Amino acid sequence: MKELSVEDKLKYLYALQQVDSQLQEVQDLKGDLPSIVAGLQEKVGGLKAKAKELSDAMKQAKIDRDAADVGILDSAEKVEKYKSQQLQVKSNKQYDALTREIEAAEARSKKLEKDMELFEGKMQLLKSDIEAANAQLEEAGAELSEKQKELREVNKEHEKEELKLQHEREKILVRVDDSEMERYERIRRAKGGQAVVAVKRGACGGCYNRVPPQRILEIRQNSRIYQCEHCGRILVSDNIVETSPTLT
Ligand SMILES: [Zn+2]
Repeated sequence: MKELSVEDKLKYLYALQQVDSQLQEVQDLKGDLPSIVAGLQEKVGGLKAKAKELSDAMKQAKIDRDAADVGILDSAEKVEKYKSQQLQVKSNKQYDALTREIEAAEARSKKLEKDMELFEGKMQLLKSDIEAANAQLEEAGAELSEKQKELREVNKEHEKEELKLQHEREKILVRVDDSEMERYERIRRAKGGQAVVAVKRGACGGCYNRVPPQRILEIRQNSRIYQCEHCGRILVSDNIVETSPTLT
């Protein structure tokens, strides 16, 4: 690509500024909607994860409760078995051994009953937590689809304009070299989206500070890129404004 004249560089930078300002206007029309939608998506994702976690905990509590239940039945059967064995034993030693077995099975059963109560209590708590989480999820989900619908409508409304501007921007970008682009973006970020401004009635079109007459003459020559001494924005002359390849 052959090196552009400074005048052409200024024209493309000014044109880029016009396109970016129009894209910014479209973004402003969308307002907070994109960030609201993103925030709600995150919230819904978090609530889904929480609901899943609670439902997993509920499954586990049920498994634990059922295991305790089976354990209690098993202990009761053993106690019955030992008791009938006691009726048949021949020695005190055997009888006492079975008594110890019975006591152990009863102690185990008691502990399992306590465990079961704990698991039941846990399930009660989880049940209300799950209900609360589902209600929150439903509410956030409804809000999200509402806002997504609004955003889709706004996007659709400006789709053509945005595409046209994006296309225009890409055409301009191939004409602007990296160091100028870097400078442009840096000023734009620092100065609320405005990096290139015209000198109007002897003043900077960005900060409205006076530009010295001698500097205005130099700017009109389009032989160097000048920045405002006060705000740092790139200054262009009327001539650039009038001949810049803008959309509108
Ligand atoms: Zn300025």
